Amino acid sequence: MPKIKQLSPHEAQKIAAGEVVERPANIVKELIENSIDAESTRISIYIEDGGKKLIRIVDNGCGMDAADAQICFDRHATSKITHVHELETINTFGFRGEALASIAAMSQITLITKEEESLEGTQITIEANNITCTNSVACPTGTDISINNLFFNVPARKKFLKTTQTEWRAIQLLFNAFCFDYPDIHFTLFSDGKQILNCPTVHTIKNRALQLWENPTHNHLLEISSHEEISIEAVISDHQQYRYDRSSIYFFVNKRWVKNHHLSSALLKGYDNVIPSGRYPIAAINITVPLHEVDINIHPRKEEVKFLHPRLVEQALQNAIKKALEDNTSYNLKKEVNTKPIIAPTITDRPFNFDTYNFDTQFIQQPTRAQEKTVARPIIIPATPQLTVPQDNLLPLHNTQTPHEEINEHKNIGTNVPIESYRLIGQYKTTYLLVEKEDGLFLVDQHAAHERILYELFSQRFNEVATVQLLFPHIITLSRPDIELIVPHLDIFNDNGIIIEQCAYDQLIIQSLPVHLKEQSLNDLIKEVIGWIIEYKAAEPNEFKKTINNKLQAQMACKAAVKAGDTLTQEKMEQLLHDLNKTANRFSCPHGRPTGWLISINDIEKKFKRKL
Ligand code: ADP
Ligand code: MG
Repeated sequence: MPKIKQLSPHEAQKIAAGEVVERPANIVKELIENSIDAESTRISIYIEDGGKKLIRIVDNGCGMDAADAQICFDRHATSKITHVHELETINTFGFRGEALASIAAMSQITLITKEEESLEGTQITIEANNITCTNSVACPTGTDISINNLFFNVPARKKFLKTTQTEWRAIQLLFNAFCFDYPDIHFTLFSDGKQILNCPTVHTIKNRALQLWENPTHNHLLEISSHEEISIEAVISDHQQYRYDRSSIYFFVNKRWVKNHHLSSALLKGYDNVIPSGRYPIAAINITVPLHEVDINIHPRKEEVKFLHPRLVEQALQNAIKKALEDNTSYNLKKEVNTKPIIAPTITDRPFNFDTYNFDTQFIQQPTRAQEKTVARPIIIPATPQLTVPQDNLLPLHNTQTPHEEINEHKNIGTNVPIESYRLIGQYKTTYLLVEKEDGLFLVDQHAAHERILYELFSQRFNEVATVQLLFPHIITLSRPDIELIVPHLDIFNDNGIIIEQCAYDQLIIQSLPVHLKEQSLNDLIKEVIGWIIEYKAAEPNEFKKTINNKLQAQMACKAAVKAGDTLTQEKMEQLLHDLNKTANRFSCPHGRPTGWLISINDIEKKFKRKL
């Protein structure tokens, strides 16, 4: 029995449409491109429910007359070409005449449009590709198109839409990209009735960045303007500002927003040794190359490009980034030498004194953010170590027991390894503790060991961890996309003793912290969590929460732990060894590095030929 049937054009259209119209961001892109093709200078984008409920684009472009408004939803209806040979010289985004037809196949659309010379405009409503109503209306010149209830007639596709947050984020990235690409267009973005971004026209890419990227990025932006055969116009972050994910890197090649792995690598190479590895800059980079040097047709949505001489472009980019960073460093150095002699460290830079440490005063004396800004950073003063010492570790400071007794007392604590006796010899290279043991010389990595101790404390015995209310709550300002990403997950912080709330649209307020954690490490911690949220967003919700929680605890431990290079007092070293001995999984830090290394007495004796 034959199985093959011809699909009706209507059903075929629904399948084909799904390929172009995968998600709300694709539709936003097609519609903004249509507005740009219509030579609009003002484009407003209204989104509801991440675009699932509404995508509305209002422009002041050329508009359409009544007849065009009717046929623009037909397949292959385009005003942009008449013959295929025109493709070679075309400079519009569209030419296939497919986008509106595809979108109309799976949504309910209202189109209002008017040409400049017409006295009245046309309003059309269309549902699943059937025009349901046509009217003459009074309206401004331009086009106002609303896409309602995407996939209302294709439940299978609707089911696979990502969360509102994910879709909204994709739309924001797209919005940013268009803003960078077209500084001469006034763009506005609204979500669920609120204006999120208003970006009037600007003359430089840096001014665009100032509209789109909020503080504290503003003070850390460098401009690049290099016009060799390959021209590079860019705005990039300096060495002090970075993210934990790549989501704020935009490349444009001959005015097209593209993704290109090799360009990303070249950009990062430009930052080699300037920002820590695993961190990413913030950057919008316009690259212009002669048209014949680049192929933009290697991707169906033209999101990727292939260069004729990729190495040349990559090298030019890497050099331009390196030069901008070097110029900035030498400029700052000159500025500091000229205007500021060495300045005493701020309170946060002051050497930490373990013995007189008082948690209450630490929080009272914390300089405000404004104070911190007014005091220039010192030009590198050899710092005495700054210890972060868990309060519970402070308590037995005046222990009169010898380490031997102390250890033996804990013999039966539920770790799976028997507690052995030892004698602390001292600290080597302010990084390793040297310990004499029955069976050899034991080296302990002080940071890795402390990290493990704190990690086990945070993850297993959290009820023993004291939290401290900050006298001056700590405010963190983030970009809107970042705020939206993190706010739904603040409970993960709260579960770990970092009490955070949203206090303004783009601000978080931190009221209290576990005593171990330094207030200064919070900004980094929050950004790291944002990076993980992006990285693990595809994970199943329970798994997602567990992963972020574990990573947060490991990172809190890392930030609170003593560092390599910190001088430790005798008491502190003994405390550390004592706590390590009590700790489960004590042989490695939460990142998997070993905490200790035993050079066995056997090996030592063999080396000295005392034994064969
Ligand atoms: P394409 O852009 O490939 O031509 P579309 O389906 O996106 O195909 O649009 C079909 C036609 O509708 C366009 O060629 C254009 O004439 C008209 N059109 C669409 N959007 C607009 C707009 N915002 N302003 C004016 N004309 C528009
Ligand atoms: Mg189009």
